Amino acid sequence: MPPHLPQHIVTRFAPSPTGRLHVGHGWSALMAHDLAGGSGGRFHLRIEDIDGARSRPEHVAGIMEDLAWLGLGWDGPVVFQSQRLAAYAAALDRLKAMGLAYPCFCTRADIAASASAPHGPEGAIYPGTCRHVPDDVRADRIAREPHAWRIDMARAVAMAGPLTWEDADRGPIPADPLAAGDVVLARKDAPTSYHLAATLDDAAMGVTLVLRGRDLLAAADIHRLLQALLDLPTPVYRHHGLLVGPDGKRLAKRTGGIQLAELRASGVDPSRLRDDLRAGVFPAGISLQNT
Ligand code: GLU
Repeated sequence: MPPHLPQHIVTRFAPSPTGRLHVGHGWSALMAHDLAGGSGGRFHLRIEDIDGARSRPEHVAGIMEDLAWLGLGWDGPVVFQSQRLAAYAAALDRLKAMGLAYPCFCTRADIAASASAPHGPEGAIYPGTCRHVPDDVRADRIAREPHAWRIDMARAVAMAGPLTWEDADRGPIPADPLAAGDVVLARKDAPTSYHLAATLDDAAMGVTLVLRGRDLLAAADIHRLLQALLDLPTPVYRHHGLLVGPDGKRLAKRTGGIQLAELRASGVDPSRLRDDLRAGVFPAGISLQNT
């Protein structure tokens, strides 16, 4: 057992409904479910459906069906991010009022074309172009142009001071949100971002343990900062390893042959699969990435 787990574990499984679940999702959800159950806590399901173009109702139904097939039940009502937009807007307004958010009019192409864009844990670091747009020009462009909202990371970090987050395996970790640069708080096509929505939801749902893949490790730095700025409680984090297929590539929703629905269709016994996943035994060709 990780040494720094909270005593009462309230956790969640938070898929985006952009496809069916694969074996890695099932494994992750099982771990979260079991940790919560073992502490007499709660396991919640949250549907991260802020991406209106890619989220599909049939995938929401599919995710629930896949979890049920695997024998995983969740506590309380399912939380849909698409129904919590008012809470995200209120938090964004608060960050704006604190002088920590600015509108960004750049396109992906603008950012990619920026010669200086170095890479951070979240991909290309935003070069800060729109941070320097004068206030009067800003107001005018907001009225006319599609825009995202970004955090002024240097200012936010200066305001929050040094922070640490609690890793269930390793204890306190110094947070380094500056490494990610001015990340997006609200997208052009959605009134929030993954970072803002997930941080607010975890707090609203009383989550004490965030269990998710190692691909989201750097997100903990950003979420910890948002917690400090918005006076939110701080869960413990655990980032599990990622599963790879025979080609050594990470499992993705698009990868064929590893979806729970496919295993089900091919006659796999769900209780056997559940026992195997609990023991860290994966279907043929799938293994835990060695990092
Ligand atoms: N929705 C994210 C995903 O599907 C998970 C986010 C989280 O657990 O914080 O990868």
